[in-house]
Amino acid sequence: MVKVNENYGKLPGSYLFSEVARRIAAYTAAHPEANIIKLSIGDVTRPLAPAVIEAMHQAVEEMGTFEGFHGYGPEQGYPFLREAIAQFDYRERGVDIKPEEIFVSDGAKSDCGNIGDIFGVDNKVAVCDPVYPVYVDTNAMAGRAGEYQEETGRWSNLIYMPCVEENGFAPVPPKERADIIYLCFPNNPTGSMATREQLQQWVDYANANGSVILYDSAYEAFITGPDIPHSIFEIEGARTCAIEFRSFSKTAGFTGNRCAYTVVPMELERSGVKLNAMWNRRQTTKFNGVPYVVQRGAAAIYTPQGRQQIMESISYYQRNAQVIREGLTQAGLECFGGVNAPYIWLKTPDRMGSWDFFDLVLDRANVAITPGVGFGPSGEGYVRLTAFGDAQATCQAVERIRKML
Ligand code: PLP
Repeated sequence: MVKVNENYGKLPGSYLFSEVARRIAAYTAAHPEANIIKLSIGDVTRPLAPAVIEAMHQAVEEMGTFEGFHGYGPEQGYPFLREAIAQFDYRERGVDIKPEEIFVSDGAKSDCGNIGDIFGVDNKVAVCDPVYPVYVDTNAMAGRAGEYQEETGRWSNLIYMPCVEENGFAPVPPKERADIIYLCFPNNPTGSMATREQLQQWVDYANANGSVILYDSAYEAFITGPDIPHSIFEIEGARTCAIEFRSFSKTAGFTGNRCAYTVVPMELERSGVKLNAMWNRRQTTKFNGVPYVVQRGAAAIYTPQGRQQIMESISYYQRNAQVIREGLTQAGLECFGGVNAPYIWLKTPDRMGSWDFFDLVLDRANVAITPGVGFGPSGEGYVRLTAFGDAQATCQAVERIRKML
C-alpha cells in the first residue's frame, strides 16, 4: 500500500484566505444588498502596461512563424531577460549580479516553496511572526517544522522571530542557531522595512553560523526612501550567505501572467557544494521554463516606456496606501507600514481580537480586511489592509471605516 506524505495531515485546516472568503460569502448571502469593498486579498487590479502588451503581441506573432517559433526555452530563462534583470535591477543600483546567477521562474511563491528541495530535512528554520504563510507551510510539508501546536498556533521545530511594535516589526537574530532564515522586506503582512544596519546584522549572523538567508523582496518596487536597501546583495557579505526572490507580480501586475526570478550567487557554498549548481540542477530537472511570450512581456518593463508605465501603476497603489494610512490615522487608529509597501498593518481599537474586528468592519462598514492573527500569533490584535484596490473604492472604504468608528 502506498504511503502518503504524512506531513500534509499535520497542516492546520483552513487556509487564511479561504476562511476570509467563506465569511464574506456567508455575510453576502445573509445581506444580498451589501456592497462589500475588499481590502483583503493582495492581488493587483490595474491592467498590464501598454509596453508589456505590445511586446507580448509581437511575441505571439513571432510564435506563428517558422523563424520566430519558440519551443522549450532554457529552464533558467532567456538570456535577453536575465541580462535585462542583471543590468536594470542590479548593476544600475551598483550591485554586481551576473545573468548566470539569475533563474527566471513562474513565481516567487513557487520559488520560496521549491527552494526547500536543496536543503536537508534536519535544518533549523527561522521565520518571522507574523509571516507570509508559504514559508511555514512548505517547511511543514517537507517535514522540517515538526508538529503543529493548536494552543500556540506554532510548529514545534520552527524558530519564531516575533515582529512586533517594540522592534519596529523587524526581526532580530535569535539566540538559538538558525540554519535557514526567511526574511521578507518590504514585509508582507506588516508593511515594514529593515534598515541597512539591521540587514548587515543578519548577513554577519548568517556568515558566522553557516546559515542561509532566503530574502523575499517581492515588493521591492514599492520602496520609496533613498537609503533603503532594495536587495540583500547591497549588504556586504551577502554573496556568501543569501538567496534573493523577486517577482514581476506586484512590480508589473503579472499576478495572472506568472513571472519571477531567484538570484543564487556563485560564491554561496555549503557542505562544499555551490547552491547555484544545486538550484540549476533542481530547476532543469523539475521545471521547463516560463513561456517565451511572458518573458518578452517581462523584458518590456525595462524599456524606457515600460519603466514609466509600471511606475505609474505603482504610484497609483502608493497613493491608495497613503489614503488608507492617513485616513485611518486621522480617525484615531494606529497604522504601520504603507510607506515602502502596499500593505497597512492596523492595530485594532481597544485590543480587539483580529477576527472580531474583521467581523465588525465587515458588518458595520461592509469592508473586507485580513485578520493579522492569520499570519501568526504575533499578528493578533492587528489587521492587514491592501492598497491594490481601485482608488475610488479605497477612499470609500476608508470613509466607511471612519464613520463606523
Ligand atoms: N512573496 C510574498 C511575500 C508575497 O506576498 C507573494 C504574494 O502575495 C509572493 C511572494 C508571491 O509572488 P508570485 O506572484 O511571484 O508567486
